[in-house]
Amino acid sequence: MTAQILDGKALAQAMRLRLRSARQRLGPRPVRLVSVEVGQNPAADVYVRNQQRAAAEVGIEMEVSNLPLGTTEAMLVAAIQDLNRRPEVAGVIVQRPLPIGIDPRAVQSAIDPHKDVEGMHPANMGAILYREPLLPPCTAAAAQHLIVTTGMDLRGAETVVVGHSEIVGKPIAVLLLHHLSTVTVCHVGTRHLADHTRRADILVVAVGKAGLVHGDMIKPGACVVDVGINQGPDGKITGDVHFASAATVAGWLTPVPGGVGPVTVAMLLRNTLRAAGAEV
Ligand code: NAP
Repeated sequence: MTAQILDGKALAQAMRLRLRSARQRLGPRPVRLVSVEVGQNPAADVYVRNQQRAAAEVGIEMEVSNLPLGTTEAMLVAAIQDLNRRPEVAGVIVQRPLPIGIDPRAVQSAIDPHKDVEGMHPANMGAILYREPLLPPCTAAAAQHLIVTTGMDLRGAETVVVGHSEIVGKPIAVLLLHHLSTVTVCHVGTRHLADHTRRADILVVAVGKAGLVHGDMIKPGACVVDVGINQGPDGKITGDVHFASAATVAGWLTPVPGGVGPVTVAMLLRNTLRAAGAEV
């Protein structure tokens, strides 16, 4: 079997077109997304530039606020509270990693939940237990969207999520549970990972370990969504799934790069427009 590639770039492009129309329907008032970064982080800078390009295409103004290294948690929270008060600011995102000494949870909780376009405020995270909230966590929503586009029947599908982080693994498991798929979550405590992955009709891998899942761990015909982003010593970006071996077994497979990543950015823009009052 040769997997159909789930082309995240193409899917994101189609989403941006729809989002652009939704943006135009909001009229001439500004819709601003503010990215806050503490210190300089080259990896985050690449990510921010991608976000800026995508935002411009949709018609969202993206402002980048670079706070100096040495900014304390209290100073960062105060900066976020200022943004919460600015009416033209629809969304606020905080780039990670944050310097040691700043608690990411405290910072995320300081964002007004209505402007939390990454969907990581405890209120938005909690809301996914009650079905899809207005502002779902972007990566989880992206993984869900990619799976739904395959057209496969999710009801009753054996679904295995590898990784149980708060921002990725757990919300993905919950969103897929809403489709009545039978969800198993694997993590560091899981014995015999392959025994679980091999029976998955839908396999989502979100760990951050290059090549953790090989083709021999995949059920023939399965839909495999690779969330992982790993940078090799040569600078090359790979996922958590060994692409070449997985592609000979899976029915659908997301590439890395070009799979979940671009759709995650599109979800961020969708959330920003929703936060600004658009129906998308
Ligand atoms: P994380 O917070 O480090 O979580 C990784 C998860 O994997 C944890 O739940 C960890 O369990 C689990 N894990 C570690 N080793 C494992 C193993 N051998 N078998 C099974 N589970 C294992 O990372 P994250 O934020 O969830 O991100 C995961 C990956 O997705 C990273 O590569 C990240 O860069 C990528 N990512 C991509 C996007 C995108 O848009 N494409 C967005 C966000 C993240 P313990 O906590 O118990 O150790």
